[in-house]
Order: sequence, then C-alpha cells, then structure tokens
Amino acid sequence: MSKLFAIIGDPIDHSLSPNIHSAAFRELSLECSYIAYRIPRGELEEGIESLKKIKIDGFNVTIPHKVEMMKYLDMMDESCSIIGAVNTVSNKDGILKGYNTDMDGFLEPFKKRNLNVKDLKILLLGAGGAARAIIVGFAKEHAQCITIANRTLENANSMVKFSNKIGLNANAIKLDEVRDTAKNYDVIVNATSIGLKNEPSPISLDSVNSKTIVYDIVYMPINTDFLKKAKEGGAIVIYGYEMLLGQAVRAFEIWHGMEAPYNAMKKALLGGT
Ligand code: NAP
Repeated sequence: MSKLFAIIGDPIDHSLSPNIHSAAFRELSLECSYIAYRIPRGELEEGIESLKKIKIDGFNVTIPHKVEMMKYLDMMDESCSIIGAVNTVSNKDGILKGYNTDMDGFLEPFKKRNLNVKDLKILLLGAGGAARAIIVGFAKEHAQCITIANRTLENANSMVKFSNKIGLNANAIKLDEVRDTAKNYDVIVNATSIGLKNEPSPISLDSVNSKTIVYDIVYMPINTDFLKKAKEGGAIVIYGYEMLLGQAVRAFEIWHGMEAPYNAMKKALLGGT
C-alpha cells in the first residue's frame, strides 16, 4: 500500500525536504509520497489531528513547531527527550513517536571525513534550537569544552546551564566579543541565522589554520561568507547542506527501516554536482 509523508511548519514553501525524500523514493522505487503541509503557529493540534485522519505514516517538523510538537507525542526516543525538540515523527496505528535527527545529521559530516571531536575546543555561534541539538552532539562525542557566543547573552547563558547539565564544560560570551579569538578553537560552528540573507561572516576568521574545522549550518546559500572566509584561511570546511542531508537520511531510515540512498538524495539537493 502506498505510504504518505510530510513536512509541517510555517513558512514551508521553500522546504527542500520534499525533493530530497521524493528522490529517495524514486531511486528505490518505493510507492510513497512526501508533501509540504503548512500549519501556522497556534494551529498545531488541529493540524496533527488532520494528519492522523489521513493516516500519515510519518512527518518532519520545522519552525515554529519543533518544541510544541513534544506535547502531542505518545512516545519519544532519547535524542528527542534530551534535546527537548522533535523534528521527525513516525505514526504506527495512531501512536506518534518523536525523534530528533538534527544531532545525528550534524555529526554525520565529521564521521564522513574521519574527524574525531573528542577533546577538541569548540566555539559555537548561536543559542537557538539548532544550537541545542549541536551541544548534545558535542557532549556525546566528548568534546573538551564549548564557548557559546550569542547576540543575546541571556540565551547563551541558558545554553551554558544546559551544556553543563549534560556534562560538557561551557562558558558564554557575547557574539561581538569573539573578535580575533578564532585561533583558540579547534572547531567553529555558525548556528545563528546569519548568512541566510548573504550577510557578512559574524566573526573574523583571519586566525584559522589548516587544522581548524569551520562548519556553517546555514545551507542556503551553500557558500556563505563565513565559509568563504574560512576557506581563505585554509580551514577544513563543512557545509550546512551536509547536516540537512544527514538529518534527512536518518529520518528516512527511521521510517523505512532500510539504508537511505545518500547519493540520490544529495543529487536532488545540489542538482547534478
Ligand atoms: P532559532 O532558534 O531561531 O535561533 C536563531 C539564532 O540566531 C539565535 O542564536 C539568534 O540570536 C541568532 N540570530 C538571529 N539573527 C541574528 C542576527 N541578525 N545577529 C546575530 N544573531 C542572530 O533558529 P534555529 O532553529 O536554531 O536555526 C538557526 C539557523 O540554522 C537557521 O539559519 C536555520 O536555517 C539553520 N538550520 C540548519 C539546519 C541544517 O540541517 N543545516 C538545521 C537546523 C537549522 P538571539 O538569541 O540573540 O536571538
């Protein structure tokens, strides 16, 4: 029987998930479809009821519902409960189970490059929802310590508390206090929204070197100014689209119980490159 999947959120028109998952269905000749379904803020409960009525098999969750969706789950896995947000839901006979595949998606490119983050010093820019999943990832991989730099210091401070609670040493600074300290870190991650509108890099990357790992989770545009500056300094760069693909691959595997066709999904995202 044909299966149905979706991504819910608002705005949702520009989501790349329908393309990525549809490419996987085509590649493996699966009788499945994946749609983008707009659910405005404040209408999540009714939206979920509608999805259950049409017997949706699974769905992804994006802004603004990742935290509120937790209320409507019957079960959740550990990634979801630690991070406190959900981005993937499976529906088995009306029982909704939540997962958070952002953390695995974030870590995937390190694994693909055989880069070990154990004992490394991390600088994380941003303290929003994505930053939370990233902190759990670094804690899991036993990074040495993390500095959380954010425009609003208060939000960085609450991420520090969260980080310390799950066993990762952390401190907070304001984003504009980072200045030329890039050289003090092994890994630098941009998890702010800066770059989405082609803004200049939020920090100076003049002092990075060929061992520094610079990771931008913004995936549109692919080549942000932040990554361009990192390349100029000779750093190892990781692109935001890799995290996007990683979380989609993991969601695919949860829903279908089989290995995802990574290359077909990547091609759908990047076009023939
Ligand atoms: P969020 O919860 O809204 O957090 C946004 C973060 O960006 C906050 O730290 C915020 O700082 C900061 N910020 C926003 N505008 C800023 C500005 N003009 N100057 C300085 N800081 C600014 O969003 P999110 O869910 O964490 O997502 C963050 C970014 O990651 C988005 O661009 C999203 O597209 C991307 N993302 C990518 C993936 C992927 O798979 N590649 C997955 C998830 C998210 P304040 O605390 O001061 O507001």
